[in-house]
Amino acid sequence: MPQQRAAPAPSDPADAEEISPYRAKRDAPGDRVCMSCSKTFPSLGWHNRLCRDCAKRG
Ligand SMILES: [Zn+2]
Repeated sequence: MPQQRAAPAPSDPADAEEISPYRAKRDAPGDRVCMSCSKTFPSLGWHNRLCRDCAKRG
């Protein structure tokens, strides 16, 4: 009787890519130039376009 071993999860590279299929690399949080004062600041994400100073002022 052949023993059926539980197959390990297939390490398909495509699976890893699917973790964030719709998030482009350039949209990842990181340094960004403020839309208002052109200062480089650590952005929280693509939606975060103003540095903290400008965001505070509105
Ligand atoms: Zn700014």
